[in-house]
Amino acid sequence: MAVNDTRNAESLLEKIFYYMNQLMDEKDFEKAILLLTDLGRTLVGSDRASFWYWDTKKKQYWTIAAWGSEKITMPEGTGIVGAAIKEKESVIINNPYEDERFNPSVDKESGYITKSILCMPVTNEKGKVIGAFQAINKLDVNGLDGSFGEWDVKRLAMVAVFCGKTLESHMLQREAQIDQLTGLKNRRGFYEYYAEKMENTDSDRPMCIVICDIDFFKKVNDTYGHNAGDAVLIHVADVLHGNLRIGDEVVRWGGEEFVFLLQNKNLEEAAEFAEEVRKQIETTVCEYAGSRIKVTMSFGVEALNRDRDLAENIKRADDKLYIAKSFGRNRVVKQSGD
Ligand code: GH3
Ligand code: MG
Ligand code: MG
Repeated sequence: MAVNDTRNAESLLEKIFYYMNQLMDEKDFEKAILLLTDLGRTLVGSDRASFWYWDTKKKQYWTIAAWGSEKITMPEGTGIVGAAIKEKESVIINNPYEDERFNPSVDKESGYITKSILCMPVTNEKGKVIGAFQAINKLDVNGLDGSFGEWDVKRLAMVAVFCGKTLESHMLQREAQIDQLTGLKNRRGFYEYYAEKMENTDSDRPMCIVICDIDFFKKVNDTYGHNAGDAVLIHVADVLHGNLRIGDEVVRWGGEEFVFLLQNKNLEEAAEFAEEVRKQIETTVCEYAGSRIKVTMSFGVEALNRDRDLAENIKRADDKLYIAKSFGRNRVVKQSGD
């Protein structure tokens, strides 16, 4: 290697180590992706870089991380990102204004002038495309306009692999914490949420746990079938979720049981909240395949005690739920002796 090449290689390695060191300590997903995006930008020597996530449910691409520009959303199948994702191949454009795949409207709005683009699809471990990495405006060693080439593709590929793995593991982790039927957090997701919440909220703030359970739910399944039962669970989850205020959370604790964690409410206020939700459940209807299904729910309310762990707090709320059930259901119990 010539002296200049060696120096270049050394400075490149230095850059990689610099970012990798930071990445190793970074637990936050978005910050990790942002670091990787900047590493990609540095390796190819571009002015801007962004990492795009392909949201197949919403049929959109959106930037999880963008260096040098605002976060943007684009409809699926459009733009250079769309071209790279569709072709499953890197796209290099060094004359965007002469290329029909390029949409100059973003430039027009922002005043930025795109001169060169390198866009690379990002895949998961199974080779499925899950996003794209885009570098904009290649700068040469003197900071002047340059052109992207195959060498840049090789460099960016390294970062794209890390981006893919980071995104995939984040998505899998999130999926494992969401209940597929109702879209609410599941028990596992709640434990993580609870731990974070306890770390980040003032211990003087009153908090409450409300556990609730659909009454005679087995009968719904027996009468209308399991699919109708599922529809009722979705309906109930929607009503519960619709009552959340900022800082509150509701999760599907199991089967037909749900748990609220309420912020800034004492026992009395939490019981009033539960009573309001109880009335809404009682008065709303789940329509399924021509049937109008009505259910009621029983509630147990407990003031959160931070000296006890989550399971213990929920056990105490659950004891009250048990009382609500044994006293005839469709009611809220806040005192052990209610
Ligand atoms: P109680 O008023 O005492 O709570 O009576 P219950 O019938 O609601 O309670 P039980 O524990 O006897 O029955 C709960 C039923 O919930 C049994 C189970 O099949 C049903 N279940 C649990 N998860 C699901 C689900 O995801 N979908 C459907 N359709 N049913 C479910
Ligand atoms: Mg039940
Ligand atoms: Mg139950």
